[in-house]
Amino acid sequence: LAQLYGPLNMLGYIYRSVNQSLVDTEKLLKLLNEPTDIVDRPDADDLIVEDGEIEFDNVTFSYDGRSTALNGVSFKVPKRSTVALVGESGSGKSTILRLLYRFYDLKDGEGRILIDGKDLRDVTQSSLRKAIGVVPQDPVLFNASVGYNIGYGKFGSSAEEIEAAAKAAQMHDRIMSFPDGYDTKVGERGVRLSGGEKQRVAIARTLLKNPPILLLDEATSALDTSTEKDIQKALQHLMEGRSSLSIAHRLSTIRSADLILVLKDGQVVEQGTFSDLLSMNGIFASMWADQISNEDGSSSVQVKEPAA
Ligand code: ATP
Repeated sequence: LAQLYGPLNMLGYIYRSVNQSLVDTEKLLKLLNEPTDIVDRPDADDLIVEDGEIEFDNVTFSYDGRSTALNGVSFKVPKRSTVALVGESGSGKSTILRLLYRFYDLKDGEGRILIDGKDLRDVTQSSLRKAIGVVPQDPVLFNASVGYNIGYGKFGSSAEEIEAAAKAAQMHDRIMSFPDGYDTKVGERGVRLSGGEKQRVAIARTLLKNPPILLLDEATSALDTSTEKDIQKALQHLMEGRSSLSIAHRLSTIRSADLILVLKDGQVVEQGTFSDLLSMNGIFASMWADQISNEDGSSSVQVKEPAA
C-alpha cells in the first residue's frame, strides 16, 4: 500500500499544481483581463524575495503602439508598505498591476520594473507569480466546499490552518452558520456567497498562500457598513508584513495607506499620504469633495469623510 501511496500522492500533487495554475490564471484573467504571451529568458533566474520592495522606474507603456497607457511612471513601494492607486477610469491603475504581474514586458528604453532590485524581465514567471497574491474584485470560487476553496491557497493545509485563515479573514462565523460548516458546498451549485463573502474567502486563501507581495482590486460596488468593516479587518490581517499595491475605490483603505498615488492619463500627478493629498488641494482633494457631496455612492470612487 505504501508503494502505491507514493506515486498516487505525487499524481495528486501534479494534478493540484496544474489545476492551481489554471485557477490562478482564471482569477487573474478576471482581474486583469488579458492573456499573457511572455516568454522567460533562457538564463532567467528564480526571483527570491527578501524585502518585497517594488520599484517602477520611469515606466512608459502602450498596448497598441499608438496611445500610451502609462507615461513616465516612477514610484516605490517600500518593503512591507501599503500603496494605493486612485484615479478616474482609464488612468492606468490596472495597467500598473498587469505589468507587475508581467502580463506584458516593457520594451528596452521604456523603463524598468524591479522587485528587490531585480528586473522582472530577468526572472522566471513562475517564481514571480508565486511571490504575488491577488485578491480580485470578484473572486472565482470552485463548486466545492468552502474549506476546499480556502485550503487551495496552500497545498496540504490542515483543517486547523484553514479555520485560522478563515478567522483572520472574518469569515469563520459566517461559515459556521452554513448547514455543513466548512464542508458546505459553495458556488453555482451550492450556497451562493455575496461579493463581500467571496472576497473574504479569497483573502483567507491568500493568507494561506502567504506571498510577500499583494495585488488588490477592491470591489467597486457599495457594500453595507458591517461587510465593509469585516473586509477592512480581513485586509489588515492580510496586508500586515507584506508589500501591497491596491486599486482603491473607497477611502477606508486609502486613509490608512502609507502612500497614495493619484493617476491621470497614465501619469502620477499627485502622491502622498491621505492628509498630504488633502492639503495639496488638488485632484485628490476635489475627488474627495465630490465624493462626500455624493453620498449615494453612485460614483466609481466612493470617498467618505475620514475619521477624526
Ligand atoms: P478602470 O478604473 O476603468 O479599471 P484603469 O485606471 O484601471 O481604469 P487601465 O485599464 O489601466 O485604466 O487603462 C489605461 C489605458 O489603457 C486606457 O486608455 C485604456 O483604454 C487602455 N487599455 C487598457 N487595456 C487595454 C488593452 N487591452 N488594449 C488597448 N488599450 C487598453
